[in-house]
Amino acid sequence: MSADLVVENLTVEYTSADYVVKPVDHFGCRVVDGSLALLLGPSGSGKTTLLSCLAGILQPTAGSIRHDGREITALEGAELAAYRRRGVGIVFQAFNLVPSLDARDNVMLPLRVAKFSLREARRRADELLNEVDLTDRRGHLPSELSGGQQQRVAIARALALDPPLLLADEPTAHLDYVQVETTLRILRRLTRPGRVLVVVTHDDRLLPLADQVVELVPHRPLEPDGPVDVRLKPAEVLFRQGDASDLIYIVDEGEVEIFRETVSGGLEILDRRGPDQCFGEMGPLFGLPRSASVRARSSTRLTGYSVSEFREALGLERLDGLVRAGAVADGRRINLRSVGGAARGVNGRDVVSGRPEADEHTGA
Ligand code: ADP
Ligand code: MG
Repeated sequence: MSADLVVENLTVEYTSADYVVKPVDHFGCRVVDGSLALLLGPSGSGKTTLLSCLAGILQPTAGSIRHDGREITALEGAELAAYRRRGVGIVFQAFNLVPSLDARDNVMLPLRVAKFSLREARRRADELLNEVDLTDRRGHLPSELSGGQQQRVAIARALALDPPLLLADEPTAHLDYVQVETTLRILRRLTRPGRVLVVVTHDDRLLPLADQVVELVPHRPLEPDGPVDVRLKPAEVLFRQGDASDLIYIVDEGEVEIFRETVSGGLEILDRRGPDQCFGEMGPLFGLPRSASVRARSSTRLTGYSVSEFREALGLERLDGLVRAGAVADGRRINLRSVGGAARGVNGRDVVSGRPEADEHTGA
C-alpha cells in the first residue's frame, strides 16, 4: 500500500452564469510519501478548488484522488466524515480560528471532537504549540496574535490528529517577510515519512521549499518567429474557450464567429470578424486562457501574430485600442469587440481593425 498521494485526470466544472469554466481540467500529479509538493499558479488557476477536492470538501466532476490506500472521491457518509476529521488537515488561507477561544483552545477543538479527555487534549495542544514555537502565546486570543502567529495556531490545529495529508492554502498571503521566513521553516520541519504536505500558492518565493513543484498554468509558450498563416475550412474551430492562448489574429479572407457553448448544450454567437478585423488579443496579452471559442463561417484565411509581432506590425496604439474596446466584467462580452478606424498597414496593406461603427454592444 502506497502512502503517496496520486491525483489523476481531476476535473472540476463550475457553471458560471450560462457557461462552464473548468478551473481544474484533467489535472494529475503524484506526491511521494514524506515530501512537500508546491502547486504553483496565479490567482484563479484553481488552487483552492483543487485543495477542496483533496480535503474531501468538494466532489470533483471527474477523476481520482488516491491516498493511504483509499479513493478519496469515492468516500461517502461516515467514511467521508472520518476522512475529513482524521485523514486530512487544512490550513485555510484565512486561518479560520474561533475568535472567542485562545490559541490552546483552538488547537484543542479537533481533539475534543475526537473524544480526547480534557487533560490529554491539553497535553497534545501544548506539544503542538511548542512545535510551532508558540508556547508563550497559548493563552492569547487570535485578535491578540500577529498574522504569522495565527497561522501557526492554524497549523497546530491542522496537525492535532496527526493526519497523513496536510494542506495549506496560500500560506504566505497575509504575512510580512519576517513572518514568511518562520512559516517556511515550520512547513519544512513538518515533512516526515507517513505524511504528505501539499502547499498551493502564487508566491514563487516558496519554490526552494519544495521537494516537487507542479505548475498549474503552463509557462507562456515561446513566441513563434514571424506571422503565421492559418487556413480554416468552413466550421473548423481555431481555438476553444479554456485553451492556452498564443496568438492575436487578423482575418485576411472569409469570416469567423466567436461563440460560447452554453450549459444547455446550445451555442451563443457573441460576435463575427471579417476581413481586416482582429480578435483574440486578451489571452496572449495577459496570459489568460481563451475566454470564448472561434470557428470559421466559410473558408477563411487568418494571420496570427505574437504580441510583440503584433505591436511591431500594427503599433501599440492599435493594441491599446483593441483592449479598451472589449467590454469587460459582465462575464459574457469579454475580449470580443474591436475598434474601428484604419491602422498602419501590415505587409503594405491598410488594415481596418474591428467594426467600423462604434456601437456599444458586441453584435451577435
Ligand atoms: P485560486 O485559488 O487559484 O485563486 P479558485 O480555485 O478559487 O482559484 O478558483 C478558480 C476558478 O473557479 C475561478 O475562476 C473562480 O471564479 C471559479 N470558482 C471557484 N469557486 C467557484 C464556485 N463555487 N462557483 C463558480 N465558480 C467558482
Ligand atoms: Mg485560492
